[in-house]
Amino acid sequence: MNKAVWFCGVVEVVEVGDKMIYSITHKNKNFEVKATYKVVHDVRDESFDCNCNHFVHNGMLCRHAFKVMLNSEVQSIPEKYILPRWRRELVPVELLPARVRYGEMDDEKQALINQAISMFDLIIGCVRNDKGSLTKFVEQLERLGDEIRRMFQY
Ligand SMILES: [Zn+2]
Repeated sequence: MNKAVWFCGVVEVVEVGDKMIYSITHKNKNFEVKATYKVVHDVRDESFDCNCNHFVHNGMLCRHAFKVMLNSEVQSIPEKYILPRWRRELVPVELLPARVRYGEMDDEKQALINQAISMFDLIIGCVRNDKGSLTKFVEQLERLGDEIRRMFQY
C-alpha cells in the first residue's frame, strides 16, 4: 500500500465545518489519472471516509484515505482502521470469563494465561502502527503455533 500512495495526488482540499474534503486522483503506473475520489476527513472523530468504498468492502484502508492521512500529518493511524477483522474476533473473546474459554482452571494456570494475554497485548501495542512489523509478528506467531502443535501433536 505504501508504494501505491505515490500514485495518488491531492488536487483539491475544501474545508466544510469540521470536515476536510480532499479530491484524490488515482493514477496508474504511467501516472495517467484513472479516477478521482473524495476522501472526507472528519476532524472531530478522526474518520477518513473515501467514496471508493474499499474500506467498507475489504476492511482495509484504501490508498486514497492513506494519502490524506499522510497529507494531514496524523500522529498515528486511527485504531479503527487497523486490522478490523482481528478486532472483531478478539473483542468478544475478551469479554468471556476465562473459565468458560479455557475449561477447568487453577490459580497458577490462570496467572500464566493472564501473563500470556498481557504480553500479547504489549507486543500488539508496539507493532500496531507499522504494517511491516505486524506482518513479521503474525508470521512469527504462525511459526510458534506450528511448533506448539507439533509438540503436542494436535
Ligand atoms: Zn479510496
